[in-house]
Amino acid sequence: MLQVNENYLKLPGSYLFSDIAKKVAALKDARPDAKIIRLGIGDVTRPLPHACIEAMHKAVDEMGTAAGFRGYGPEQGYEFLRDAIVRGDFLSRKINVDADEIFVSDGAKSDCGNIGDILGVGNKVAVTDPVYPVYVDTNVMAGRAGDLGGDGRWGNLVYLPCTEANDFVPALPATPVDVVYLCYPNNPTGTTLSRDQLKVWVDYALKTGALILFDAAYEAYITESDVPHSIYELDGARECAIEFRSFSKTAGFTGTRCAYTVVPKSLVATTAGGEHVMLHKLWNRRQTTKFNGVPYIVQRAAEAVFTPEGQREVKENIASYLGNARTIREALLGCGLKVWGGVNSPYVWVKTPGKTTSWEFFDHLLGDLFLVGTPGAGFGPSGEGYFRLTGFGSPDQTKEACERFKKI
Ligand code: PLP
Repeated sequence: MLQVNENYLKLPGSYLFSDIAKKVAALKDARPDAKIIRLGIGDVTRPLPHACIEAMHKAVDEMGTAAGFRGYGPEQGYEFLRDAIVRGDFLSRKINVDADEIFVSDGAKSDCGNIGDILGVGNKVAVTDPVYPVYVDTNVMAGRAGDLGGDGRWGNLVYLPCTEANDFVPALPATPVDVVYLCYPNNPTGTTLSRDQLKVWVDYALKTGALILFDAAYEAYITESDVPHSIYELDGARECAIEFRSFSKTAGFTGTRCAYTVVPKSLVATTAGGEHVMLHKLWNRRQTTKFNGVPYIVQRAAEAVFTPEGQREVKENIASYLGNARTIREALLGCGLKVWGGVNSPYVWVKTPGKTTSWEFFDHLLGDLFLVGTPGAGFGPSGEGYFRLTGFGSPDQTKEACERFKKI
């Protein structure tokens, strides 16, 4: 008889954003005059850089000619893009990454989820808490997470709380783990790890043999010099880490879809029998079997991000989002609230006042100020008592929202 992957049945419904949408719809019904401002958006809003649009137009025209037509491309990505990535994202920072260690993909979300394909089901996985939910849910699907407890934690996952108490710096796991997901700058908290703080994790992984899955999707938002842009800035990381990068939040590709994952050839894991295997070899095998590459047109657009014009436009867009985040941050600090993020990240993480829960704060902001954000509890048990706001809105609406904060 046909059987399903029952791990999927363990997953609770993803209610966070649908619950938010329902509450917003109810308010609209009750108060049709309310001018609602959304500060919970996790998607970019500014248009694609012209440099990317021009590159796409040119690539479309090429596709219409016999000489320029491209069918299936290399599953790992075209050489022109992999070379541009190496020059633009790594050599420019004196980081040693080879073009054939880069795997171009349709998204960091897919890669963060799919990477589990090449890792044993018996591995013990650690996640920071609160967390980007993809890391948790994909491990549930794979059967690595165990069962969901009444406290909102999966029995076989190791949770690394990141709260005000530890200044959002996760402590090393108290019990042995094989895989650790680290996301910096962090979604949802907007916090970062300094070079020394990240070094602690690289040293830990090298000592214990653990693998770090480093999600650097928000790398382009880093403004402070002590915050590493890549885990490979740290000695030894090529022996213990995979890095995920994305053009989504960097260059507005959330709808266009392009990202990449770095799997160093020096990264080795073992079989149950003790044989050493290159993870690069396994990921290459996985991608060539299950993935047929990112469209040529999109890869040309991504290549254009690294041109001087592309870089200028990308920086302008990011500066606008960061400006919004700073405005939110300062307005909330002005209200006497505790705030993190918003400096190296589009995300601002705020402590809800007194004993107000995340959802109570949501109801207050929506019902009284017509503002929409995201309750921290939706990102994991340690997100309770916090709230996420984002700089992805328009500057005008962000300023108006900040005026309303005064009534919190
Ligand atoms: N990683 C993190 C931490 C994210 O917040 C997001 C999107 O919100 C992604 C990855 C997804 O990136 P992509 O659009 O490349 O799939």
